[in-house]
Amino acid sequence: MAGAEEFLTLIVSSPSGAGKTTLCERLRRRVTDLRFSVSHTTRTPRPSEVDGREYHFVDDAAFGEMVSAGRFAEWAVVHGRSYGTAHSEVDHARRTANGILFDIDFQGARQIKARVMDAVSVFILPPSLTELERRLRGRGTEDEPTTRRRLANAKREIAHYGLFDYVVVNDDLDRAEERIVSIVIAERCRRARHADRCEALLARAREATLGEPDA
Ligand code: ADP
Ligand code: 5GP
Repeated sequence: MAGAEEFLTLIVSSPSGAGKTTLCERLRRRVTDLRFSVSHTTRTPRPSEVDGREYHFVDDAAFGEMVSAGRFAEWAVVHGRSYGTAHSEVDHARRTANGILFDIDFQGARQIKARVMDAVSVFILPPSLTELERRLRGRGTEDEPTTRRRLANAKREIAHYGLFDYVVVNDDLDRAEERIVSIVIAERCRRARHADRCEALLARAREATLGEPDA
């Protein structure tokens, strides 16, 4: 595992249906040393979801106990259900990976950004509200009241775009994937992440006889 200065904290948020889960999956296939943070939630699993893979599915009582015990790094109520990131997810990623990928809403993004100064946040936008509704309905995972609630909440979520460092418009999936992968590559090249490496090389160069520098 690389030094702590290279650990990347990446937050991805979007209105429901914009394609965040799809893009996060593609990103994970391309950037394999990022660990996906598996949240806890009180919502019911979708047919394709497996407990412990997409989420840890818990009931209200268990979630409440975790809140009381201070076991969440962040948590929020989203679309009427509770969602949270356990500290243990973050600790595990720090021990075993070179970065962590959070798929969380803007309330969670705000909490993580307050704790992790160098966290990088990306907001995924649909090309239009009509397309957002088409995708959400096309996914076929929500009943009508939940679909309406999620679409209504999209306005509130888009209103918080100012919390994010980057915006990726998910029009064409391949293009959006390139954009988000590019963000990770660029963020990993930030000078601040390589200060130790630069200083170590400088120290070696001072010790070694590498000839005289140009005047
Ligand atoms: P979110 O996680 O943001 O709620 P999903 O990743 O589940 O959204 O995507 C919602 C639906 O839209 C899925 O059926 C997905 O296959 C589809 N989708 C995602 N991105 C695109 C895209 N660029 N073009 C067309 N359909 C897309
Ligand atoms: P879904 O029910 O569609 O999987 O997720 C609904 C929303 O909850 C999405 O915006 C998703 O990013 C957000 N979410 C998922 N896990 C967490 C979490 O641990 N914390 C917060 N704050 N939001 C989460």
